[in-house]
Amino acid sequence: MTSQIIFAAALLLTFGVFGYTTWRYVKLFQLTKPAFPVRDFGKRISLTLKVALGQSKMFRKPFTGIMHALVFWGFLVILIGSIEMVIDGLFGIERSLKVMGGFYDVVMASGDIFALIVAIAILVFIGRRLFIHVKRFEGIEMKHVSHVDAKIALSIILLLMLTLLGLNTSYVAHQTAINETIHGIFPVSQHLTGLVSGLSPAALHVHHEIHWWAHILLIFFFANLLPYSKHFHVFMSVPNVFLSRLDPLGKLPNMDSITREVKLMMDPATAFAPVEGEAAPERFGVLDADDVTWKNYLDSLACTECGRCTSVCPAAITGKKLSPRKIVMDLRARMREKGKGLLKSGKDFSDNKSLLRDFISEEELWACTTCNACAMECPININHPTLIVDMRRYLVMEEGSAPGELKAVFNNIENNGAPWQYSAEDRMLWAKDLEIKKS
Ligand code: SF4
Ligand code: SF4
Repeated sequence: MTSQIIFAAALLLTFGVFGYTTWRYVKLFQLTKPAFPVRDFGKRISLTLKVALGQSKMFRKPFTGIMHALVFWGFLVILIGSIEMVIDGLFGIERSLKVMGGFYDVVMASGDIFALIVAIAILVFIGRRLFIHVKRFEGIEMKHVSHVDAKIALSIILLLMLTLLGLNTSYVAHQTAINETIHGIFPVSQHLTGLVSGLSPAALHVHHEIHWWAHILLIFFFANLLPYSKHFHVFMSVPNVFLSRLDPLGKLPNMDSITREVKLMMDPATAFAPVEGEAAPERFGVLDADDVTWKNYLDSLACTECGRCTSVCPAAITGKKLSPRKIVMDLRARMREKGKGLLKSGKDFSDNKSLLRDFISEEELWACTTCNACAMECPININHPTLIVDMRRYLVMEEGSAPGELKAVFNNIENNGAPWQYSAEDRMLWAKDLEIKKS
């Protein structure tokens, strides 16, 4: 009974802290702007199955892709065992899901095998970070804290797998020692029982208890650490893929109010009426974290900092001051910084800083070619160009600020209806002396 009370208290504390964190994130999302209506559920489900659960984009780098996919799938299987531990802990029973019969054997066997596979994969990931120079893990946005964060999370996952193997091994050894039925199949742990063969049944029981508690308490701790770590993608990547922007990558979202103005100017007959009650936009484009859409913010929370986007960015590759990963990480950092003040003092809060300029420079923004290679490569469908373009929109529409070449183009479009410096009447002058036969 005492252990049930301790377990219930630990679970309550976990849910309490997690609930508080979730509430804060919900509040931060409420500060953001609308993005797109979420529909086409069939398409979204198949995208999620392919990109998130199938990890399809990860396999573009086959070795790390397979390792990461095994870790992800392993987590999904092991999750069932963790749910069982919560039930066992609350009700003071052992192996409560054994009622599933043959399916339980399959789940336990897969979990046991995956625990070993995940442990090996994590050791490879840690070794790679410690001993191999991986270029995409470098960059000005990858501060010391980012590397420490990654290593802490990997170490916790390794400990989780080791404690799981430990508890399975001592369970199998204990049941064998007292001649009791072993519920489930443990192909890996069965072979590890030799490590504890000299222990008495009582010692094996203590061994099992230590691993059981260490494993479940680590899960509780990790669940509350994740929202403050780059490994938040463990929770956020699947929803982020499900909520992907479904438009073709090259299609930029239009600003309805601007489109309407332009149409009114060019041909009032084609202009659509404003939606009744629609307020004029408070700001054109994005200046700060609370101007972004909920999707931009979700993207920033889901980012794994893997650097695949930056590794294919033509601007970054050719030495320009742009890293799409930095853009996403800067938004997350700025929302964390300004969000506190916004939640405390309301939407008029200002700390005299902004995402644009204090975090992301104009030079970075104008270096983007909007080629969409970053969005194409991102394993969890983060869309960087829409955010970059929205910050450029702010610069152009609110400040009239743009590189000189672009300003000339804007003037030409305004005056001549084309990007060139000739009036429409002069457009065919080049052909005036040519003898063109009429067919
Ligand atoms: S869209 Fe911009 S940020 Fe993305 S890869 Fe192309 S140049 Fe780089
Ligand atoms: S935006 Fe995507 S590709 Fe880039 S670092 Fe984040 S998760 Fe990786």
